[in-house]
Amino acid sequence: HAEKKTMADHLRKFESLLTLTPQRMRMIVHAIEEALDNGLKKDGQVVPMIPTFVFGYPSGEEVGEYLALDLGGTNLRVCLVTLQGHGKFEVAQTKYRLTEEQKQDDGQKLLDFCAECLDHFIRESLGRTEKDGILPLGFTFSYPCNQRRIDHGELIRWTKGFGAPNIEGRDVAAMFATSLKRLGVPAELTALINDTTGTLIASNYVDPDAKIAVIFGTGCNAAYMETAENIPKMANVGLPPGQEMAINCEWGAFDSFVHQHLPRTKYDIIIDESSNKPGEQSFEKMIAGLYLGEVFRLIVCDLIDTGDLFLGQNTYKLEKAYAFDTAFLSLMESDVTDELLTVIGIFTHFFGVETTIEERQFFKKLSVLIGTRAARLSACGIAAIVSKKGYLEKGCAVGADGSLYNKYPNFANRVHQALVDIFGEKGKNIVTHHAEDGSGVGSAIIAAMTKKRK
Ligand code: ADP
Repeated sequence: HAEKKTMADHLRKFESLLTLTPQRMRMIVHAIEEALDNGLKKDGQVVPMIPTFVFGYPSGEEVGEYLALDLGGTNLRVCLVTLQGHGKFEVAQTKYRLTEEQKQDDGQKLLDFCAECLDHFIRESLGRTEKDGILPLGFTFSYPCNQRRIDHGELIRWTKGFGAPNIEGRDVAAMFATSLKRLGVPAELTALINDTTGTLIASNYVDPDAKIAVIFGTGCNAAYMETAENIPKMANVGLPPGQEMAINCEWGAFDSFVHQHLPRTKYDIIIDESSNKPGEQSFEKMIAGLYLGEVFRLIVCDLIDTGDLFLGQNTYKLEKAYAFDTAFLSLMESDVTDELLTVIGIFTHFFGVETTIEERQFFKKLSVLIGTRAARLSACGIAAIVSKKGYLEKGCAVGADGSLYNKYPNFANRVHQALVDIFGEKGKNIVTHHAEDGSGVGSAIIAAMTKKRK
């Protein structure tokens, strides 16, 4: 009969399953570029390439006080952003946690909750009332919305695990204005933006070389600036030639439904099929913070099922969907002790199972494989925009934000390495930076830019 496989044997299998070669990445880059082009040509494409009605980069001289509300996917953040000009700003903020129930509750109720948090922040944290005037508000609502103006946006479909009914297909800005009015919140919604667009504008405010923005948070998405003549689907809007407009790519949707280009494993397929939106957001589901821990957990469960892990131990805590947070992958990767003490801690404290050193080494390396695959896939997206826009020769900066980028060890290095694997040495011309509070500051700057245009 067959020899029992060692953890090292298993590791080799997952290495080949989860590793992306430079050649494979270049094929993906090409396919993404094509998808981006299609999205600019016609409405209703897989990657929607949404015009944001944010016209061009900021001057850097925008000033004033603005509220920013950011509904990200995991947190709700409320900030007061003070723009000081010369690329400088200050932020005061409070975070509110969203419950799973709220994500599935009625759409208007969800927005009412956002308005309540905003009201609480204005009155309690800022100590302001109606008498102090109405503050302009940028609402960062990071789900794909069709926009006709900057203060309008019809939710195309929920992503990132949200499922609140009675809001898809409706104007979120108008619904939110209703919530503000009903609660008497002293704020006026001036701009509805996506976190990627906000990050693009905020990064460029600080560093004019920043031409692309990417979010690596609960979800994954990007934005960049396009010129009117390159957006054929807007030909009838009558934008002047040369007019720049930020495009929210919604690249997380790449390869949705058709599944032709991405090297999905059986674990990615399980995640997709058991999600509340099967078939959708294929690219995002292989990259984003919401899903990476789940890829790890599904692999571990597979090895439990085959009797290769935790034989005779009670593993019910590991068998619960989404029980393994992506932050655990970060923690395991950061563990530099010989015994892998952090890995011991995670498995005993959170999941009630004992591990051997061989198993712990396997878990750490598996985290590296999953994190690296995510970084390399997202680099393919960056490379597609770079090559589409011809940014490789002169180089550009990429403003990046989100917990995966900010907290996952080596994530940025792996993106950079992948860009070199794709482009050769010239890939070094593309450098990602953490965009300090991109979505909050960005929505404030956009609110300021909007005021100037009016
Ligand atoms: P949002 O998407 O709401 O703006 P974040 O950028 O904080 O929020 O992203 C939240 C996602 O990041 C969650 O899916 C969470 O699992 C993941 N995450 C949180 N902490 C870490 C960490 N230390 N390392 C990797 N991922 C993390």
